[in-house]
Amino acid sequence: MTARPDAYDEALSAAARHARSWLASLPDRPIPPRLTADELAAELAEPLPDGPTDPGKVVDLLAELVEPGLMAMPSGRFFGWVIGGTLPAALGADWLVSSWDQNTAIRFATPGTTAVEQAAAGWLLDLLGLPADAEVGFVTGATMANFTGLAAGRRQQLDAAGWDADRLGLAGGPRVRVLAGAERHETLDAALRYLGLGAPTEIRADAEGRLETDALAEALAAGSGPAIVCLQAGNLHSGAFDPLGPAAAVAHEHGAWVHVDGAFGLWAAASPRLRHLVAGHETADSWATDAHKTLNVPYDCGIVVARRPALRAAVGMRASYLVQGAGDPVDSVPELSRRARGVPVWAALRSLGRTGVADLVDRLAANARAIAAGIASVPGAQVLNDVVFTQVCAAFGDDERTRAVTARLLADGVTWMSGSRWRGRDVMRVSVSNWSTDDADVAAAVDAVRRAAAG
Ligand SMILES: *Cc1c(COP(=O)(O)O)cnc(C)c1O
Repeated sequence: MTARPDAYDEALSAAARHARSWLASLPDRPIPPRLTADELAAELAEPLPDGPTDPGKVVDLLAELVEPGLMAMPSGRFFGWVIGGTLPAALGADWLVSSWDQNTAIRFATPGTTAVEQAAAGWLLDLLGLPADAEVGFVTGATMANFTGLAAGRRQQLDAAGWDADRLGLAGGPRVRVLAGAERHETLDAALRYLGLGAPTEIRADAEGRLETDALAEALAAGSGPAIVCLQAGNLHSGAFDPLGPAAAVAHEHGAWVHVDGAFGLWAAASPRLRHLVAGHETADSWATDAHKTLNVPYDCGIVVARRPALRAAVGMRASYLVQGAGDPVDSVPELSRRARGVPVWAALRSLGRTGVADLVDRLAANARAIAAGIASVPGAQVLNDVVFTQVCAAFGDDERTRAVTARLLADGVTWMSGSRWRGRDVMRVSVSNWSTDDADVAAAVDAVRRAAAG
């Protein structure tokens, strides 16, 4: 029997009520959670009840229990890690994705959500200045986008070397050399590990963390055989971009596959003002980015793009019980059953429009510059990076003092900037990734840093 039409009413009404009250609390709410995970786990450690509970009550109970443990991540005053907020249209679309419950793997079975994802993919290629005929996969995040893009590169490079890895595996085959900048993101190493490619050859980076093309050329010349070069668009600490065009050209001279990790930085391509940062990025072979960072859709949503037909060859699958055709989502992601996570991307892009996306990216970068200028005016503070995009790194004297200022800032609760280590020293890291951050948020954040530095 299909569920009664009113079976969902109470649960959905309760969810909408709690969602509204959470979102309404964000402008004034302190950022940190009030309870730790251990404290909450103890509270939640009741035995599973024997009998059923009313769905609406369950949603009420959940919202009540979890509220003290919520970090105000979607707040305009949150600048930790690289965390996007949620655009209203994207959130609404995400609710529909759950309600529709379409397992979006094959076109024939789920034409509605597949077509929406296809439209979103086309818009993305256009906005990001990528080849119009490239394959696009909506995956869980940039970790999996890196994994998938690198899987495509591995497949293509081994194929070109005459090694049938699909049948024979990696053992006994030619070694695929991987070269990556010294300041690559950790998830790249994880993806290489999952792929059995081992640790990359590390290429020297400059003071902003950009891979040096000369050093890449030397390293490539020192070896031979199949190779993958990993470039980065957006350094976690400085926001800096590897010299994508020149580095890709050198890599291609040596027959390498070029993969770009642009988890948050690839979006510079959508801004006429900032596009120079990624110059030449379209000459690469695969690209990874996130929609849940710069584009501000709900978790989880990453995007992999690759030149045809490497993605399908690397991760596509065939099964007798599926009714498959060309362009099935299952052919561009390393999963079968999947959420239609490209639908909130469509909604975000449709609500912003081309200039809206450019404005969003420009605003994030402008807010980062304003926060950097504010921090630089705090006595004893020093901004360590050239703020070209959305990331700022600051120090407050020696490591001990920087750590103390960061700890006081987090305890203050008005804003959140995470601590890290960069180029051998402790830093306070700022990542401006939320669409809703406004001038008042920037001013409040700078004031909070000033208080923490004075305390
Ligand atoms: C965030 C990030 C990743 C990992 O992305 P997830 O969405 O967390 O999986 C990879 N590379 C860079 C540069 C990032 O900023």
